Amino acid sequence: MIRASLKTLRAALAEKKISSVELARLFLDRIARLNPELNAFITVDEDKTLAAARTADARIGAGEAGALTGIPIAQKDIFCAKGWRTTCGSRMLENFIAPYDATVVTKLEQDAGMVSLGKVNMDEFAMGSSNETSYFGAVNNPWDKTRVPGGSSGGSAAAVAAGLAPVATGTDTGGSIRQPAALCGLTGIKPTYGTVSRYGMIAFASSLDQGGVIGRSAEDCALVLSAMAGFDEKDSTSLERPPENYSRCLDEPLAGLRIGLPQEFFKEGCAADVMSAIEAAIAEYKNLGAEIVAVSLPNAHLSVPAYYVIAPAEASSNLSRFDGVRYGYRAPEYADLTEMYEKSRAQGFGAEVKRRILIGTYVLSHGYYDAYYLQAQRIRRLIADDFTAAFQQCDVILGPTSPTTAFRQGEKAADPVQMYLSDIYTIAVNLAGLPGLSLSCGFDHQGLPVGLQLIGNYFAEARLLATAHAYQQATDWHLRRPALAA
Ligand code: GLN
Repeated sequence: MIRASLKTLRAALAEKKISSVELARLFLDRIARLNPELNAFITVDEDKTLAAARTADARIGAGEAGALTGIPIAQKDIFCAKGWRTTCGSRMLENFIAPYDATVVTKLEQDAGMVSLGKVNMDEFAMGSSNETSYFGAVNNPWDKTRVPGGSSGGSAAAVAAGLAPVATGTDTGGSIRQPAALCGLTGIKPTYGTVSRYGMIAFASSLDQGGVIGRSAEDCALVLSAMAGFDEKDSTSLERPPENYSRCLDEPLAGLRIGLPQEFFKEGCAADVMSAIEAAIAEYKNLGAEIVAVSLPNAHLSVPAYYVIAPAEASSNLSRFDGVRYGYRAPEYADLTEMYEKSRAQGFGAEVKRRILIGTYVLSHGYYDAYYLQAQRIRRLIADDFTAAFQQCDVILGPTSPTTAFRQGEKAADPVQMYLSDIYTIAVNLAGLPGLSLSCGFDHQGLPVGLQLIGNYFAEARLLATAHAYQQATDWHLRRPALAA
């Protein structure tokens, strides 16, 4: 049950081989046993989880169950969940109890009947690629506990890889679903911007932030994405489109699919082990009937500098709400209002968050706005245009997700630029607002998983998931498990 697919779990629940309460208990026990060595969960509340599981059992008993009713899920601690502590990985929200549910939580838990196992760790305000910026401590990669799980959805990925949850939510502003999925041997999808509601998802960079799923297979991700996506009038950037079933073309053959390889992703800068696993996956796709074509993303190399202007600019604005007045951390001692603001923010935010606020405020300030922020927005347009041109020649773009496998804790923490460069393959996708998926395609010489990235045109999520699913039907990388204590 700990390693079963969502489809298998659903069948077991429907046939009453196991109850949702028993299933939740199984995962809660495993969390109690293994979380101390992984630090994937920030908050666990057994009473709340078991109460939700009892409700799910009642729905199943009454014949009112959907595809996901009674199945456990771990929620990234960026999603507000009513009555649950929601920290966003920050001291600023250490004691914040959300007064309402994010739309993602409403859809997955209230509507679909999934059972939350708790809130999982993340980089502070989702700023990071290693989960090391969390106020609640680093998360250890289940494949090698001396290494990072990736970030910012590091707790989501570690929880699923270690079998502490069958599936987890994540968010991806610059790679935070795809990169941790890659570093933990999992499948993760970030849909087209505007597909999943941002209501109740704590904002980092609003024009880039997008919710999605980390799971063990494309098939599992498709089920959960179908339940969490959809128009929401509470999010002004939510897209008004009819509901989609993302599992609908999972079993379509790949024959004739044109896979584009951007030449810029196959140059220097990627570890040799990663590249050889990617090459092998390309060969597998040829076997499956896909046609490989060369494409070009000539401005992709500008994505990291453009992102690290735009994302901090938006963050500096979004994070101004954390001022110690109405909620969140307030410094215990201060002389006047200004000092209250200063001390609350100085003590409540960690170093990386402060760095982003400073950069963001700088690039938006008078005299620098045109030189940095506007320039970055122009690059953003060029990058989006590159993708539009590439999708004239292919249906799906393929490349690495991350230039390396999981790096060691501390290895890049002191050098922000090195850390930012680990997002080199993922960021362009967010700048363009496109859907992106990462799946496991092999291991390096140290036994660490390698991630393969698939990028689709706008609204091509079902196509991306089917492309990943076909590969997962032909290979078994996604079934490999880290050798953790049982
Ligand atoms: N690593 C990137 C950053 O630090 C992306 C984070 C994310 O996608 N939330 O901003």
